[in-house]
Amino acid sequence: MNYPEAKERKEKSKVVHELDSLFKPKSIAIIGASSKELSIGNVILKNLVHFGYTGKIYPINPKEPEVRGIKAYPTIFDVPDNIDLAHVIIPSKFVPQIIEDCGKKGIKSVIINSAGFSEMGEEGMALQKSFLAKAKEYGVRIFGPNCQGIINCDPEYNAYCDFTFTFPKPGSISIVALSGGVGAFIMQSLFDLEIGMRMYASNGNACDISISDVVNYYGEDEGTKAIILYTEGFHNPKEFMNVAKMVAKKKPILAMKAGRTEAGAKAAASHTGSLAGVDIATELIFEKTGILAFNNEEEMCQVAMAFSTQPIPKGNRVGIITNTGGPAVIATDELVSAGLVLPPLSERAKKILKETMLPEASIGNPIDVVATGGGKHFRSALDVLVDEDTIDSIYINFVTAPFTDTDEVARQIVEVNKMKKKPIVCNFMTNLSMERYQVTTKIMKDGGVPCYAFPTTAAKALGALYKYHKVRSRNIGEAKVFSGIKKENALAIINEAKREGKSFLSSSQVYKLLTQYEIPVADWRIANDVDKTIQAANEIGFPVVIKADAESLVHKSDLGGVAINLKNVDEVRATVEKMKKKFDAKDLKFFVQKFLPGGRELIAGVSAQRGLEPLIMFGIGGIYVEVLKDVIFKIAPVTELEAKEMLSSIKATKLLDGVRGEKGIHKESVIEIIQRLSQLVIDFPEIQEMDLNPIMAFENKAFVVDARIKI
Ligand code: ADP
Ligand code: MG
Repeated sequence: MNYPEAKERKEKSKVVHELDSLFKPKSIAIIGASSKELSIGNVILKNLVHFGYTGKIYPINPKEPEVRGIKAYPTIFDVPDNIDLAHVIIPSKFVPQIIEDCGKKGIKSVIINSAGFSEMGEEGMALQKSFLAKAKEYGVRIFGPNCQGIINCDPEYNAYCDFTFTFPKPGSISIVALSGGVGAFIMQSLFDLEIGMRMYASNGNACDISISDVVNYYGEDEGTKAIILYTEGFHNPKEFMNVAKMVAKKKPILAMKAGRTEAGAKAAASHTGSLAGVDIATELIFEKTGILAFNNEEEMCQVAMAFSTQPIPKGNRVGIITNTGGPAVIATDELVSAGLVLPPLSERAKKILKETMLPEASIGNPIDVVATGGGKHFRSALDVLVDEDTIDSIYINFVTAPFTDTDEVARQIVEVNKMKKKPIVCNFMTNLSMERYQVTTKIMKDGGVPCYAFPTTAAKALGALYKYHKVRSRNIGEAKVFSGIKKENALAIINEAKREGKSFLSSSQVYKLLTQYEIPVADWRIANDVDKTIQAANEIGFPVVIKADAESLVHKSDLGGVAINLKNVDEVRATVEKMKKKFDAKDLKFFVQKFLPGGRELIAGVSAQRGLEPLIMFGIGGIYVEVLKDVIFKIAPVTELEAKEMLSSIKATKLLDGVRGEKGIHKESVIEIIQRLSQLVIDFPEIQEMDLNPIMAFENKAFVVDARIKI
């Protein structure tokens, strides 16, 4: 035993955390404990006792001398002892007074199960504010209100401070869910899958202790190996991102993709705004912080089984062992689509397998031990894969063939699994109604082998383990801060637009602003009559483009306000005359621009988010963006790596390299534009929406030829 390390660990775990009084209470008061069966004040008491709570319980009830056989006290002040945690289960109007009492008694955490607060409109909100003020005054932390509570399955505590009905076995998965309903069914699903739980928290209105606080606590809890998260949005997205980023590096966080932000997407006039949709921010928060997001709650729970028992693979190379053909084919498809590969086996491995396998076995990757293969054949295949340097994880298809000693196969798998050298998942195909196979199953489960009923499910679980490996080793770096930027000038331009009371910047303001951040734009002039337009065209050099320019013109080309490839003075004159007739806007001007033909049309954009940094968008641009919808979003600030990922993760990414003999575009220029754009919007949070569409990208450069900015 490595003594110093063990000692250090012990000392570390002794560090007292502010939320220990909530999750590790040594004494609990139940304010509103009731003798009435089927009441919350009764069920919580019953659950605590039933789960074997190791601390002291103090029912508080002014009328009853005892509740469920436990001595009760009229008030908390009558309790002769210290109290760590109190449950409050009384009508909402009495809660502010009770919180003050808790403060006076020195209670550190309170779970308010009662409803009737912010979820009930103004009156409830006022009550919530009032008890929160008391809590702040006395340093009491509030969990809830309108919530279930917490559970700590650590046998040292067995604290079931909740009114639900699932009694999990101790394990290493911790759950945090804003919604009690979702939390409860996730807990039940883990229980059904025989996955142990560590801690549980469902905080309802979350007026004080937030999801971020709980995730942070779980992050520091050594007994928590993986975290399951369910939320429908964030009170403080920036705080959450900081916490989640830190915790996700230490342990996997699995979350459901659910939630809404109040993005102003509906009324958006820009492409970026309307493409962002309303629920994209939560997903992007998950992505940026390294949270594993799931669309399907069942899959998430199945995957949790692998996280609770298996180490994280060091790479994407998987070895398959199977005793039946077809399921290995299905598994391979799923594994490959999750980014895993099946490397060939080394000569050394093949030699061992030739000596140890049945003659009809297939020696390669997958290793088919065949249905008649027994424990020693599985074992040899497992040992070979554990020893192969080119293999990071092991996938097993195990069908319980009636003519083999399936218990022995299971025992061999378990033995190798217990070494925890490489992650193992098993697609375990059997008949659970037969006693014989129940025994085999029990050996597998007791041995901590994650067993799945379908090849795809097992493969998805392994895929998720690998994804976490990628998340943990991914370093997006810091956002670049470009020097030489003229922020003062940019500020002056934005202030000018504000003074003019405009929500959209004028064309000249837009292009000047971009130039302050050295975002390259096509050469341009603005003119208000024919002669000036011709002069501008001569200065820029033919061919040119003329765009009708007025505040009311949004998508100019839809209205015939864009004339491209004008080769001479006559064409310019004719275009100006035509546009004058067509648009009778008082502020009509002519935006003259260098014609830049033959580029790839790209889009970059910005959409501001409440409580969060703005979203940056990149994709295939031009007039068909809304039809193609080939765009990617990231939360600003966007780092160079993220900007690169944006280019490589659009569907049409191959277009950027050039197809059918065309030349590819200069990606570096576009990557730089994205980063400069990110810096611009971080510097000016008043920018609500922005479209650079199109950016014309060429072989060695890229230029913005159309842009809109809303403040
Ligand atoms: P809007 O988006 O308001 O309709 P744009 O200025 O984006 O107007 O012009 C529409 C299309 O015209 C662009 O997608 C592009 O194909 C073409 N275009 C505009 N400006 C230029 C230019 N300077 N060089 C080449 N093509 C251009
Ligand atoms: Mg455009």
